[in-house]
Amino acid sequence: MRLTNGITILSDAVLVASGFDLFDAVKKEEYGYGIYDQVMTNADLEAYFKTGSDKRVTNPKRIGFVHCVGSRDEKSGCRSCSKVCCATAVKQAIEVKQAFPDSEVFCFYMDLRLFGRHYEDIYLSAQKDHGVRFIRGRVAEVSENHDGTLLVKAENTVAGKPLKVTLDLLVLMSGMRPSVPGKAIGDLLEMPVEEDGYFAVRNGIAAGQRSPLPGVFLAGAATGPKTLPETLADARAAAMEIDRYLTEVFPDARNYKQLVRERW
Ligand code: SF4
Repeated sequence: MRLTNGITILSDAVLVASGFDLFDAVKKEEYGYGIYDQVMTNADLEAYFKTGSDKRVTNPKRIGFVHCVGSRDEKSGCRSCSKVCCATAVKQAIEVKQAFPDSEVFCFYMDLRLFGRHYEDIYLSAQKDHGVRFIRGRVAEVSENHDGTLLVKAENTVAGKPLKVTLDLLVLMSGMRPSVPGKAIGDLLEMPVEEDGYFAVRNGIAAGQRSPLPGVFLAGAATGPKTLPETLADARAAAMEIDRYLTEVFPDARNYKQLVRERW
């Protein structure tokens, strides 16, 4: 395999663990990211938690989270769920309440997908212990008021009524997208890609770590949105698949690692 820096590597197996990119929230123009000062993404908020500094976060009193930004959204070109952003929104909503105890926090969601162990408990705690309000409904439009606050229009799908909320800060839960640098690796190896942009696997569920190409293996978000435990399990499974493959390729070798060392 020839790398982009011109170096050639000879290898009997390749593991592609190319990760993911975050959906570019600018593309959802109706949410105003990059247009209105007080709109940020989940990644921006996480950076604020780490550094304690972001000019958009100045003691906000009303904060909203929008779930499924660029996920489960045909118009954005992604029908799949990104799996991690509901849990991230609940976590970040609690952290915002802890940082700004006088604030009101709203989560706008289509439906909540919190399937990890204890995740449901965190969701209940967000409501009971921290007073986070969950509103079932998709945000339709965001605009800016004269005083710099945001006017969010949504539909409360439980009450069946339109809703308007004025906020000081809006956080967009950007979902996962196939990695752009990963695509470059895929192009080098001529790896098949599915309609959603993620790499194809050899045999669906049964061989999720094997590419249709012999000797090419996959792990993590290279084949679709993954949670952290799924990624770790994938990595272990891929290592075992590679071990099995090399044993198949070198059936006479008692120790293919030794063989590879001798060859290269
Ligand atoms: S995890 Fe939640 S926020 Fe993320 S895409 Fe799925 S349903 Fe939407």
